[in-house]
Amino acid sequence: MVSSPDCLREQFKILQKDYQQQLPSKIGHISEIWYRLLRRPDRVADWEKLHCLIHRMVGSGATFGMSELSETARRMEGYITDMMAMKSHPTAAQQALINTVLDELKQMAIGPQWQVIGGIVDQYSPEEKKEVKSRWRGEESWRNVKSKKLIVLIEYDEEQANDLRVQLSCFGYKISTVKELKGLKDAIEEMSPAAVIMDVMWPEGQMAGTEIIQEIQGSRNWPLPVLFISARDDLQARLQAVRAGGAAYFHKPVDIGSLIDKLDSLTAHETREPHRILIVDDELILATYHANILGKAGMVTEVVTDPMQVMKSLVDFKPELILMDMYMPGCNGLELASVIRQQDAYVSIPIVFLSVETNVEQQLTAMHLGGDEFLTKPIEAQHLIAEVKSRVERSRIVSSFMERDSLTGLLNHTKIKERLSIELTRAKRQQSPLAFAMIDIDCFKGVNDIFGHLIGDRVIKSLSRLLKQRLRKTDIIGRYGGEEFAVILPDTDAIGAAKVLNEIRSGFAKVRQLAQDNHEFSVTFSCGVAAFPEYSDANSLNEAADKALYQAKHSGRNQLALAGGGLS
Ligand code: GH3
Ligand code: MG
Ligand code: MG
Repeated sequence: MVSSPDCLREQFKILQKDYQQQLPSKIGHISEIWYRLLRRPDRVADWEKLHCLIHRMVGSGATFGMSELSETARRMEGYITDMMAMKSHPTAAQQALINTVLDELKQMAIGPQWQVIGGIVDQYSPEEKKEVKSRWRGEESWRNVKSKKLIVLIEYDEEQANDLRVQLSCFGYKISTVKELKGLKDAIEEMSPAAVIMDVMWPEGQMAGTEIIQEIQGSRNWPLPVLFISARDDLQARLQAVRAGGAAYFHKPVDIGSLIDKLDSLTAHETREPHRILIVDDELILATYHANILGKAGMVTEVVTDPMQVMKSLVDFKPELILMDMYMPGCNGLELASVIRQQDAYVSIPIVFLSVETNVEQQLTAMHLGGDEFLTKPIEAQHLIAEVKSRVERSRIVSSFMERDSLTGLLNHTKIKERLSIELTRAKRQQSPLAFAMIDIDCFKGVNDIFGHLIGDRVIKSLSRLLKQRLRKTDIIGRYGGEEFAVILPDTDAIGAAKVLNEIRSGFAKVRQLAQDNHEFSVTFSCGVAAFPEYSDANSLNEAADKALYQAKHSGRNQLALAGGGLS
């Protein structure tokens, strides 16, 4: 088939646009590796990967008309090459150089470059620009896992404000307190918080809180998420709160658990992760084409052209669906699907075959061997996107039932153990540490006995929420049993894990739990930590962490013990 020049130009434009859309994630990936290297400069493989990615950007940037980007990438490549030759930890000056270049690259990916390259800027609608920018912000917060959301607490009573601030801070929110209504509108505008908590009653008036919020809401383009708190519990007050655009109303003393639940749901922008698709095709150009199509639909893709590398990708990339070519040299798609399906961890991963095969019998064989769907090449972009999307969605729903605990939404016992062996395999290959922690709530039977099972369940939920908020996104949390939790911390040694978990431990002890009749109490937990490479397989890690936990309990509870001795 011969393409006309017009058609080629069109294709180029599409690729160019794709490239720009993918830039934030490419640069995000580069900075991710860079920050990992700062922690572990001995990882040769990471240096090589970093070099390779930045080198590619020199070429691709130039190809797609972004000469400034290409030049900046070339500068970075130079620095990286120097550092690789030096074979020691990057100096402060080198770090500063790379950080500056990374910032420049980020700017180019979202900013002025739009104007620099003629023609391109017109291709994006304002919505698209916003989308690319927000996608970029997503990358940022992913790297900067500790970035906390800002909540503005507007409360007249100093004591109550302080108490609430301490409580909310335990759950990973940054709280800024405002004690007067004067100048509130400007203050909110300037701080641009994720949500606002507002007291209803003020010296200025019984309903001054709702009134001023109503006024502020009226002057905004989009509503501000507001939660009202009040000593009043009458319908009139609640009604006013709703009219002022309040998202929730809490009667004092505020149940922290419910308040956090509400804040979590109100401030959880973009909780949905993009679909992760692994494309296995020996023909790179086709694989890239399919990757582009799926990438444009917002999915994250990885391309493998050598079927022998699939297992590595399954572990590292953790795809949610595999799009696989039927005929490849060395090992065909059918064989590969069987091999994948024979491993417990991948029994349910959807596999979609993509082939020029139109023979129905062959297609049936493919399904029999574990393929979920058979698509014939060439496939229309919209059709491919729809197939892949619907399968991943369905499999997400199914697996959330099978893998998640219904009370906390955390991984269940079976799944967390499965993840431990997958993560361990990866840690071994990458020669990076991995920590495993077991957590058990102290004297929990007593909580149930005194306050009842329902309150006990709330305590379990509050710990699960705290773990989700305070750990990194890359950490894996499971509910191991009743009041026991397990955490896998990749790239973390025992000491590092102990530090984080100890912070969480002291945070949890400060959380005010609420029982019936506004009775308040607090709960503690004990924790045992073991790590790879000191313990080299899943069973011994498990046992060692369990033993350490037992030791922590034995030594008086509300503490953390390291496997092989050591309490903190
Ligand atoms: P220790 O400090 O030694 O861990 O004491 P403990 O009381 O926490 O430990 P024990 O293992 O004796 O008791 C655990 C209790 O947790 C017993 C069980 O009824 C309760 N439990 C287990 N699962 C749940 C649950 O899902 N909800 C509630 N409310 N309680 C649970
Ligand atoms: Mg227990
Ligand atoms: Mg217990």
